[in-house]
Formats: sequence, structure tokens, C-alpha cells
Amino acid sequence: MIDAKLNPFIHQAYCVLDGESISRELATDLAQLEGPDILDLVSLANKVRDKFCDEEHICTILNAKSGQCSENCKFCAQSSHHEAEIDEYSLLDSKEIVDKARFAAENGVRSFGIVTSGLGFPKANDVFKSILEAIDTIKKEFPDLGICASLGMLSEETAGELAKRNIKHYNINLQTNPERYNELIATTHDVNDRIKTIKLLQQHSIGVCTGGIIGVGETMEDRISLAFSLKELNVDVIPLNVLVPIDGTPLENSSGATIAEITKTFALFRLINPTKVIKFAAGRETIMKDFQGLLMLTGANGYLTGGYLTTRGRNISDDEVFQNQLNHFSSKK
Ligand code: SF4
Repeated sequence: MIDAKLNPFIHQAYCVLDGESISRELATDLAQLEGPDILDLVSLANKVRDKFCDEEHICTILNAKSGQCSENCKFCAQSSHHEAEIDEYSLLDSKEIVDKARFAAENGVRSFGIVTSGLGFPKANDVFKSILEAIDTIKKEFPDLGICASLGMLSEETAGELAKRNIKHYNINLQTNPERYNELIATTHDVNDRIKTIKLLQQHSIGVCTGGIIGVGETMEDRISLAFSLKELNVDVIPLNVLVPIDGTPLENSSGATIAEITKTFALFRLINPTKVIKFAAGRETIMKDFQGLLMLTGANGYLTGGYLTTRGRNISDDEVFQNQLNHFSSKK
């Protein structure tokens, strides 16, 4: 029974629990909710997560090649166009990558992602070949650990090499409303190149991990456009980052998004993509602070643990305690 006093837009959105889709118009109306209605929206998103999603998806990533990137993504500390002070290095040696994978496996993490800065590699590139070798070693030593990668745009050949290795998910983010990509994110490449890589991944049956970032100057409408674009592309995993402004980047003084806006955004992503894995990535600890648990009850069913590419996060054992507490809110535990 739905509470008759519920806001009428939320009332309408309960159709998601019956397997129906919400329209863009309804999503836009839900995005306007304020005050206690937001918590009713949170409650619905949590019900949808509980009904359509299985256990939490927790992964960790390794920044295997940092900085010196030719692209100018406004939020990113790794761009050579910006002045951010970060650790820059070319590819970590294979032993270091395998050691990090071992640490993840021994700490109960099921997915380990290898991430490199830059636009991507040709098949014959030495860095790409070294990454493939590291993947082969990890797969041999830790057969139960899912291996994911985020190495920029792919070609038919490089996608084929990853498919041969049975990569669990490949990450390539759309970041924001595709129609405003060049305005909000980067001018050195086009969002259609990213979409081409997503299609290639699907042709090669590699799981697609594609999400975006909240707080780069986009509107609620832009966030809704991203959520519907991801639905249309039928991606498997949706990582959502919240901007952590970094000194030396064009967004260093950005005020980002409010906790209420971020909360509504997570809820809308869950209602628009009810069965997908939605992961809370960067910004969970630094931006959400006391409210980070709230987002895990706002439809997210996974998160990154152990830190991010250029910002720190919480360690894996602290997140285990966090997860145990969250489990009390699920009907499946
Ligand atoms: S997000 Fe990726 S492509 Fe864009 S500047 Fe950063 S490392 Fe380069």
C-alpha cells in the first residue's frame, strides 16, 4: 500500500517497483522535490535497489599510470593542460601491479581495476603489452578476482585482446550530458569516441562500466540526460563520482553540488536504471562526509574502496565495518 499522503510525483514513480519505466518528464518533476519529500524519494530508491539488485558490488582501483595526459578534462588533476600537483609516473612495474591485486584479493575485494591516464593505446604499444602481461599473471595467481580496466579509448584490436582475457568490466565514462560534453568536460576529444568504445565493448561481450561526475557545473536536467543516455546504451555498471575540486584544475573553485542535489541525483539514477549496478566512486568520503551512508540507501549498490586516482579514500577494513552496518537495511541479509 502506498501512503496516500506521498507527494504525487513520488506516488507515480512507485510504478518502477512494478517493472515500469519513469518518463523524462516525471524525472524532471522528481528533481524539483525539496525538504522531507527528498527522504520519501530516498526511501523509494532504496526499495527499488532492494527489489532489483543483488549483493553490494565493491571494487578497488589502481592508478597504474599517472598524469601527463594529453586531454583537458576540466575536473582532472592528471591533465598536462592543468597545473595540479600530483605524483606523475609512467606504468608501474608488473610486480607492483600484481602486489596491489594480491592485497585486494586478500582483503576480500572481488574486483580489481587497472586504470591508466591518457586517451588509449595502440595494440603494439609497450605499455599496453605490459598491462596485458600483468593481467595474465593476476588471472593465474588470483583466479577468483575479477579484473577490470580503464585504459582510454579502444580499437577493434585492443578490445579483442581484453576480451581474450575475459575482463570483467571496462570503464569509460560519459561524464555528463553527452550534448554538453565539450562545454563541461573536455575540448580535446569528442564524446562520440567514448560511445564508439562502449559499442566495441558490447560487440566483444565485455561488461561496460560507464558513469559520470556530479558537480562540474551541470544542471539537474543534464544529470537526467546522462541517466537516460546510460539506459539507452544499456551499460552494466554506472559509477557516479562527485567532484572533489583540486587546486590547479579549472574547477578548483567550483562549489560543486549540494548534498540534497547529489542525493536526488542518485535516487533518479536508480529509478531510471533500476536493475543496473550503481557505484558511488570519488567524493564519497571527502564531499558526502557524514552523509555518505545516505547515498548507499539512495539506490547505490556498490562503491569504490581503498582510495581513488588522485585523491585519498577510506581503507578497505574501515569500509568492511561500513558495509556490515549497511547490510541491516537490506531485506536480503
Ligand atoms: S579524465 Fe582521463 S582523459 Fe581526461 S584528462 Fe584525466 S586522465 Fe586524461
